Amino acid sequence: KVKVIVEKYIVPLIDQGDVTQEPILGYETTEEIPIPSRLIDQVVGQDHAVETIKIAARQKRSVLLIGEPGTGKSMLGQAITELLPVSNLEDVIVESSGSERNVPKIKTQPAGKAEAYIQQFENEARGSLITFRWMMGFVYVAVLFVAFFYYFTKDEPIFLLIGIVVIGLLYWVSKKMKTNPTVQIPKILVNHTNTKRAPFIDATGLHAGALLGDIRHDPYQSGGLEAMPHQLVEPGAIHQAHQGVLYIDEVSTLSLESQQFLLTAFQEKKLPITGRSPGSSGSMIRTEAVSTDFIMVLAGNVPDVDKIHPALRSRIHGYGYEIYTKTTMEDTEYNRYKLAQFVSQEIRKDGKIPHFTREAVKVIIGRAKEMSPRSNQLTTSFRDLGGLIRAAGDIAVQSEDRLVDKKHVQQALLKVKTLEEQILFEVDKSRLSTPYSQVGMVQTLIYDKGIAQVLNVSVTVQLSDIVEIKAPECLTNGDRINLEALLYQMGLYGKYYIQIDGESQIDVEGHKIWTNQKQSTKEVLLAILVNVFSIKHYISLPVNFAVCGDVDLMGTIRETSYFEMKLKAADRLAMTTIIAPLGNVTDDVPKGMEVMWVETVDDLEEIIVNHNKKMDIQV
Ligand code: ADP
Repeated sequence: KVKVIVEKYIVPLIDQGDVTQEPILGYETTEEIPIPSRLIDQVVGQDHAVETIKIAARQKRSVLLIGEPGTGKSMLGQAITELLPVSNLEDVIVESSGSERNVPKIKTQPAGKAEAYIQQFENEARGSLITFRWMMGFVYVAVLFVAFFYYFTKDEPIFLLIGIVVIGLLYWVSKKMKTNPTVQIPKILVNHTNTKRAPFIDATGLHAGALLGDIRHDPYQSGGLEAMPHQLVEPGAIHQAHQGVLYIDEVSTLSLESQQFLLTAFQEKKLPITGRSPGSSGSMIRTEAVSTDFIMVLAGNVPDVDKIHPALRSRIHGYGYEIYTKTTMEDTEYNRYKLAQFVSQEIRKDGKIPHFTREAVKVIIGRAKEMSPRSNQLTTSFRDLGGLIRAAGDIAVQSEDRLVDKKHVQQALLKVKTLEEQILFEVDKSRLSTPYSQVGMVQTLIYDKGIAQVLNVSVTVQLSDIVEIKAPECLTNGDRINLEALLYQMGLYGKYYIQIDGESQIDVEGHKIWTNQKQSTKEVLLAILVNVFSIKHYISLPVNFAVCGDVDLMGTIRETSYFEMKLKAADRLAMTTIIAPLGNVTDDVPKGMEVMWVETVDDLEEIIVNHNKKMDIQV
């Protein structure tokens, strides 16, 4: 007994892939870096996800992959397929069910056998068709013979006419009788003739019919010309994914109804195919159930999570794994090597660009560091890095160089700017031409839509007697509480009325703080605070001075994301003094720039007041 149970639960060991390779740290070009043969071993920087995927594949569990685009979600989904044992695949056939016209029958055959099965039908059909045609031909000749016979013996042309009419009638009747045996030939729905591994079906963005199966609309619904119902049946992605993986990215774009059907198919492991457009003739037809025993891999971005049907989500949560693909990885020697391996992989995958020198890889690593939201980490936005690799490769090809070198990657960095960056660069130039400084105005470094930029935040005070701080509408609740609490700590609470973007509904007599920023980001919050100090001490901050960081309720200035990118943006705009959180401390500061590291709001105030000479602040 025990033996039976053990056999049932121990899945045969799947091949372990390449023997773990030692990193070749002393490589000269990426050509020396071999790439693992299995897709799962090619996934870089997502160790936790990789481990979970291996378990999911082994135990046939479903997975929800959530993370930023280009971090390897579809790669991980495909990798499951590679790990699944290829066994028990079935071809699926649909055939006419004779009397129950609208319920076509479903049959399965071992993988690759469906074609032979159909061939048998075709041969039979062809045989009987040929016999039938011979027979009909014989009848036509006989009729013609009789007609001519009477025409010649009686000399009446009317017999010829009758003969032709009779042949026409016979032809029409034979068509009407559906004597054509080929219409009875079954149709293959799922064919695994050339399938080497478990199927991976990407059902991203499919409409309901393509996902769940459909019955083609038949324009000839009567008059003997209509097709047999089984010939109109089209399989859906869920049927093709049987015994494999059904991958759906951007799962939130699926209608709730489709998600409901998806859940039914997933739970029941079978779903009949029926017409999906309500008015169509196909909605009358409904096949027998077709197997849908697949591993479901859903993918999406963090905001998509809320749009997943709760029942579907709970199904995965209860019977599978939810995996978050990380946006950064530690900046270690090993991960830098993995990045070099990634470069090697992308080059081989692309097939049109030469290998990279070690120096060129270094520039890619530098870019990965800069793109990382967290300081001293490397980004895992591999699709973007892939774009940079291909652009650098194209430049090398253009200049007929045998290897991609540092200079090619540097040129590519200038070329691969996003639309937003290109627009920003235009704006930047014009911004530089109007520098002025004023009390209550400061530059802040922010990150938005993939680029770092400098934002001017100004705050003004309308002098009169105090009253209260009102919730500025554009700040989120958390920001508002933070700001109020901080002002309270600073002894300023009750003295200023804060208003964002000048849209006051309440007419209060008091000092009013106005700011030009609608944006409700924490990055702006800190700038507002700096401006409050600027106003409190009547200090104007120079135009080449910028601030960045997040601030919490206790007045601690927290680490800011994409710090390296922000410093670069500040440098581009000739900012020379930056106030930044201690948590971001790094030696990687552009030449000629001074960064003052602060930990608390008090440090911030002290810097503004006491170091004004050093910072060239005019009082
Ligand atoms: P997603 O599904 O998360 O948007 P993909 O898996 O489609 O991202 O990634 C797109 C391409 O970027 C992949 O084909 C691969 O070349 C590369 N890539 C993405 N993530 C990784 C990773 N973690 N390791 C190696 N290459 C990756």
